[in-house]
Amino acid sequence: MPAKSVSTWLAWLLAAIALLCAPATQARPAGPSGGEYGVQYVRCFADGTPGEALDSVTASARWTCGEATHPIAPARVYVRFDLRPGTEQPRYFETRRAAVSAIDVLVVDTVGGMHRERFAPSELQASRRGGYMRVPLPVASKPARAVIVAFDMPTHRMALEQAQLVPSRAHDLLAGRRLLLILAGLCGMLLMPLIFNAAFYRILREPFVVWHSALALSLLLTILVSSGLSFYAGHLPVMAMSAMNTWLFGLSVAAAGMFARSFIEESKLHPWLRRALPLAAGWAVLASGLHATFPFVLRPVQSELYYWAYVPVLVVFLWVLVDALRRGSRAARYQAIGWAPMIGVGLIRLVSGLVPALASDDAMMLFYTGCVIEVLATTLGVADRFMAIKDERDRAQTEAQVLERLSERDPLTGLLNRRALQDRFAMLRAEGYTTLAVIDLDHFKRVNDTHGHAIGDRVLKAVAKVLAQDADTLAFRMGGEEFLLLLRGRDAVQRAENRRRALSARIAEEVDGLEALVTASMGLVEVPASAMPNAGLHELYQRADQLLYEAKQAGRNRTLSERLKTFVPRRAERRKAAA
Ligand code: GH3
Ligand code: MG
Ligand code: MG
Repeated sequence: MPAKSVSTWLAWLLAAIALLCAPATQARPAGPSGGEYGVQYVRCFADGTPGEALDSVTASARWTCGEATHPIAPARVYVRFDLRPGTEQPRYFETRRAAVSAIDVLVVDTVGGMHRERFAPSELQASRRGGYMRVPLPVASKPARAVIVAFDMPTHRMALEQAQLVPSRAHDLLAGRRLLLILAGLCGMLLMPLIFNAAFYRILREPFVVWHSALALSLLLTILVSSGLSFYAGHLPVMAMSAMNTWLFGLSVAAAGMFARSFIEESKLHPWLRRALPLAAGWAVLASGLHATFPFVLRPVQSELYYWAYVPVLVVFLWVLVDALRRGSRAARYQAIGWAPMIGVGLIRLVSGLVPALASDDAMMLFYTGCVIEVLATTLGVADRFMAIKDERDRAQTEAQVLERLSERDPLTGLLNRRALQDRFAMLRAEGYTTLAVIDLDHFKRVNDTHGHAIGDRVLKAVAKVLAQDADTLAFRMGGEEFLLLLRGRDAVQRAENRRRALSARIAEEVDGLEALVTASMGLVEVPASAMPNAGLHELYQRADQLLYEAKQAGRNRTLSERLKTFVPRRAERRKAAA
């Protein structure tokens, strides 16, 4: 795939995704005062101690009202919602999903009645809005005036910052049907690379194809678990989903790192950085795994520590990207496009999570979009690499074929050489080439000595012309002035003999000024496949060579031939062959 068309496609895709997602990325409520979904209130925070009676805190606690955020350091934090007169009544308390050891809720009604309920983590409900949890408010006969919620062991600032009251009907709004449709579409897009990769991997057993699938899969699961889609995928306990989300984040980061490690071209990344990637990947899995499994161990500072733990990972990723881009890596360009939104998400989360004055922002919509852009960009990168490797292989294959053809030909005469014969002998015999003749020029040394090497070469070329193959005869130059014929069909012996005899006249015709006629001797064996089904080149050649030797002994310029029925190499010859 040419680079231009890939980037054009990418640009179109990104534009389409941006258009689709823009309306869905509108900021949601979560502020100190409600109203977005119909319940109007002012929200206040206060620190508390576990076990305190909820009804007493209304008066005693030191409330701060109208603030966007509150520290999670105390083992118990209160959130109070003072409902505005005449507002729509709330049905649920809802907030970001995060580990908590219990949630107490107190509804104070307009005549001072108190209605309280305590929820263990296992009783928290998943919200149709992804990544949120909710509890139903205790039912009061009179309208509510205030709602107080106690968080025991809050682990994430966002659980406080996003605390809100919602009416029943808000759920349709919150569910964001269009958002869910977009998310379902995004998930579909993430499935495609999995199918592509499975097909690619059959042809291209490169580790980056596997890591790319791991990445696509973990991002797909991340979207499922962190978005409203999880609500439709069976009712998992909220805390389990929260832990899964954290695990999946670590696994996605690890897969992305390992993918980059195996995907960025050999010479386009500093070896130390390549080695740093699996370390970063392992670190990400470790950090996320520990954070997910033990959410309370370092509770007041744990989520902050967790963010800090990702700083070195982000640094490694950015460094890798910059280094590979600087070295002109083509793979890194796809990575840069793919990672850009994710790096944006990472920065937003880090900064908003670590700067106390800022409300934490997990930039979920940018995250979902980023997941897909990451996977699409890397999919295009993989496809691009796939084409490049295929081109490379095709070129290498053609080259190999050319080389093979060259290496099978004798450059002087253009005849096939010994190697070509060896490679094809079994096949040719199966095709009926059962007559083998070895032809050697007589006293060729004299030709060279008398007329010089150049004339000798011209003689050899003339020989090649006489022997040149027809449909049922193949000629090979075995070396020096020794040739081999393979023949099939009727009169094979006679045809070989005719060729041998034709040599002298043809040589005289082609090479003038020769002092004497050049003759040749021949040893020939006829071995029907029925006689020796498994006869190899070595055995037959040795026998023909022996006959040739005997022809030379008998005075040269003649043929000795033999039709073999069964053939047992003589002991002396076997010894010679072994030597
Ligand atoms: P005989 O009848 O016993 O086969 O004698 P001969 O002289 O043909 O045999 P010998 O093996 O002694 O000599 C072969 C010669 O072939 C020796 C070498 O100089 C010559 N020769 C081998 N290859 C080439 C070649 O490529 N070009 C030329 N011009 N001569 C070659
Ligand atoms: Mg010779
Ligand atoms: Mg010879």
